[in-house]
Amino acid sequence: MKTQDITSLKQLLSSAKKIVIVPHKNPDGDAIGSTLGLYHYLKKGNHDVTVIAPNDYPHFLKWIPGNESILKHDTQRDTCEDLINNVDIIFTLDFNAFHRTGQMETVLAHSKALKIMIDHHQAPDDYATYTYSDVSMSSTCEMVYNFIDFLGDEHLVDNTIATCLYVGIMTDTGSFRFRSTTSKTHAIISKLIDKGANNNEIHNNVYDTNSYERLQLLGCALTNLKVIPESRAAYITLSQDELQKYNYKKGDTEGVVNYGLSLDGIVLAAIFIEDKNEGIIKISLRSKGNFSVNEMSRAHFEGGGHTNAAGGKSDLTLTETVEKFISILPSYNKALNNE
Ligand code: 5GP
Ligand code: MN
Repeated sequence: MKTQDITSLKQLLSSAKKIVIVPHKNPDGDAIGSTLGLYHYLKKGNHDVTVIAPNDYPHFLKWIPGNESILKHDTQRDTCEDLINNVDIIFTLDFNAFHRTGQMETVLAHSKALKIMIDHHQAPDDYATYTYSDVSMSSTCEMVYNFIDFLGDEHLVDNTIATCLYVGIMTDTGSFRFRSTTSKTHAIISKLIDKGANNNEIHNNVYDTNSYERLQLLGCALTNLKVIPESRAAYITLSQDELQKYNYKKGDTEGVVNYGLSLDGIVLAAIFIEDKNEGIIKISLRSKGNFSVNEMSRAHFEGGGHTNAAGGKSDLTLTETVEKFISILPSYNKALNNE
């Protein structure tokens, strides 16, 4: 962030403000960890703070401190929109464009509140008065830590804030293994542990609380895994019927796409998940090296994200979406085989 912006932000936050913090739709560990980390920090400055999520999130994030205070726009629309229309400041975290909040897009776009964006996705929109955007960052949680530090308040990071921020750094780096994990990321994690984040307990709460049915669904996904050797690609499908069979709950498919990428020699992995409620196929793409799934998703699947992790959607059927994916692969063969 620019020194001038930091000075203005310090001034802005030096008196109590009404603040709303918003993560993207279908919030993940980084979205919930960063919004709650910032929430606890701002509360220490005597601000009146509310986190409003566009919709619900997985069970394995519901133990995070402050979880019970989060409002959900899809089920508490009037309360949420009243707040949004009457606050001084709106922080938007872990997304780069209002449409990433789904149904909240309009109310956010019309709100007169001052906007502050903290985000690590490519091509941020310019709606915010203060934009802290850095695509080289592992996670928005790492950026919230930096943000607090920029404001000279690192000493205010306590056990609670540290726990929230640890979650998002851990989940967005695939437990500290993705390319975005730097020595700075580890240095911050080290500080968070010193401040009281219980790393063993956090890993356990997020990764070792599977239901039996979730593992059965994973078994189904792995049975459906297909490989396209000439494109060094692998993909998984999950139909609505399969999801129902294993009593699908939000979050059950989180991380499943990575199994495709764990195959020796594979550099591109996809998962196609049928969502009959929304009438779409939700797509997750992952890659290794310099192959940009962000670009692939922007070009073909109405989405985006990062170089090695992106999402998107398709209005075609599940079968047609897979056919489309297979049909575009040859144009990427050269890039995929150069990785
Ligand atoms: P996931 O595949 O886990 O849903 O998302 C991977 C990354 O891509 C995340 O950083 C997520 O925020 C981003 N992403 C997921 N879906 C979309 C989408 O529809 N549009 C854009 N622009 N980014 C997405
Ligand atoms: Mn993130």
